[in-house]
Amino acid sequence: MEKLKVVVIGSGIGGSGVATLLQHAGCDVTVLEKNPYLGGKCHTFEKDGFVVDAGVHMISRGPNGPLMLINNMVKGDLQWVSRRHIITFQVGNKYMLPYRQSVFDPIMLPKWGWGFMQATRDGCPGETATRNGSALRITKMFNSLHKITKQHGGFTWLMSEVFKLLSMNEVYYSDLDEMTVKEFVDGFTDNFPAHQLAAYASMIILVVPYTVGSAGELLWCAVRQMAGASVSVPLGGARAIPAAYLDAMVSDGGKLELGAEAKKILVDSGKVKGVKTADGREFEADIVISNAGIKLTCAMAGKANFPKDYIKRVDGLRYSCSYITKKYGLSKKSVDVNSAGFFHVANVEPETMFDYLDTGEAPADPQLFTTIPTEVDFTAGKPGEQLVIMGVPGPITGSKESSKHCDKILAAGEERLFEVFPDIEKNTRWTVKTDTHYYAKMTGKPTGDCIGLGQYVGQTGIHKPSAKTPVEGLYLVGTDAGARGVGTEQAAESAIRVAKLIESKYAIKK
Ligand SMILES: Cc1cc2nc3c(=O)[nH]c(=O)nc-3n(C[C@H](O)[C@H](O)[C@H](O)COP(=O)(O)OP(=O)(O)OC[C@H]3O[C@@H](n4cnc5c(N)ncnc54)[C@H](O)[C@@H]3O)c2cc1C
Repeated sequence: MEKLKVVVIGSGIGGSGVATLLQHAGCDVTVLEKNPYLGGKCHTFEKDGFVVDAGVHMISRGPNGPLMLINNMVKGDLQWVSRRHIITFQVGNKYMLPYRQSVFDPIMLPKWGWGFMQATRDGCPGETATRNGSALRITKMFNSLHKITKQHGGFTWLMSEVFKLLSMNEVYYSDLDEMTVKEFVDGFTDNFPAHQLAAYASMIILVVPYTVGSAGELLWCAVRQMAGASVSVPLGGARAIPAAYLDAMVSDGGKLELGAEAKKILVDSGKVKGVKTADGREFEADIVISNAGIKLTCAMAGKANFPKDYIKRVDGLRYSCSYITKKYGLSKKSVDVNSAGFFHVANVEPETMFDYLDTGEAPADPQLFTTIPTEVDFTAGKPGEQLVIMGVPGPITGSKESSKHCDKILAAGEERLFEVFPDIEKNTRWTVKTDTHYYAKMTGKPTGDCIGLGQYVGQTGIHKPSAKTPVEGLYLVGTDAGARGVGTEQAAESAIRVAKLIESKYAIKK
């Protein structure tokens, strides 16, 4: 019996993940990647002895999440590095709070409780901090919690809500998908630091503002991260993940074609037939799986091959915001926070925190997502030297003109970073900037989005596009299809689902 011929377009986490799973299951898989390098947004390059992430990655569940599950299923060689105190948060411009993996960590709870109370005392920027203010604001928060609990039936209701959240009840999350993160927090409190943290969490986890991000999706991701207690980075940089998958795929007999841009998905009478590349080659296939994003996939397959209402829905889908970065190769250790990440929570009104993304301005106080890979990964740089990657939320568009806006945002980010860590400036050997235009070129999309499809209300859970398209034999994989989760993990979860879907539909023999 002939093996099922599968062509995968794109070698991001989704593409490389599904390719290795299906090759391992007995298909004959070819991966076509347009770039001369593999991994999509997980691309990693070398510079001056450092191994530099083209993005800025920290993996929510590391060895306990779907990325490692794929690796284990195909016997890949992916390894993780981490530490207990993994991230340091700066809240209210001065309070440094350690994120120590488990919320039940005996050091973390009191430090966060105390820091939170101090930030509550300070109130919104511009308000005067007073002891009285602190007591009043905290009393108000507890009063409002008490009132809401009472309205819904008291302590039993509160406990049942917490239980549903922690039990990862899918029906409960589906309900929460219909409300924004802000609406969810508003239901409990108007406490300023609580809203600031929610706005921060929505941008760092979903990469969309909390006024439009899905509460169900954010809580789904946050609860699983806490349960996993294993925020990590892959040893060897983000690239190590797709590299482990594709190495395993090639060992199993699959083929990887770098620099092979898919131009057309061949469709005949509603059924997929193969892929034509920009250099004129044709790859026959029983199944085509596209990691190129839903919009580009429909364009490559010809919009006329899809029902009109499907295309209308696809045209209306919105991508996430971006994270743009500046990377610093440092001759000496200049950031000492005893962790591999420094996250600055912008001390501005949460509702307007990300308005600068639409106005073309610089942020008044930028949100920072800074990683220090050399603090955990011994392969990231030479001993004694330090690699720092500063990430700041950026606009969605990936046009060339957007680079000027990105420059303004990065300058504001750098100002804040140097204020906290002045030694970076004097020990910098080189810097590299990546803006939305850079990411658009990397993925072939007009957007510089960080995640892929945005996890906005109306685009998560049951509203997420299915991996199966109306064209027979054409599937989607990656962050545009099917799954939940944080960026890379969502793409991996999607790869697992697509592989299962195909394995169950077609009887595959090894
Ligand atoms: C700056 C930044 C920071 C991030 N931080 C995190 C983080 O901390 N944690 C986290 O989990 N996630 C993070 N992410 C998100 C994460 O990297 C992505 O969500 C995830 O990698 C997307 O994977 P994917 O499989 O959907 O597709 P992609 O990575 O977008 O890959 C798509 C692939 O398809 C290829 N392709 C497209 N068109 C064609 C074509 N016509 N022919 C052939 N190939 C084609 C592209 O070249 C690319 O290789 C970050 C992303 C960025 C950019």
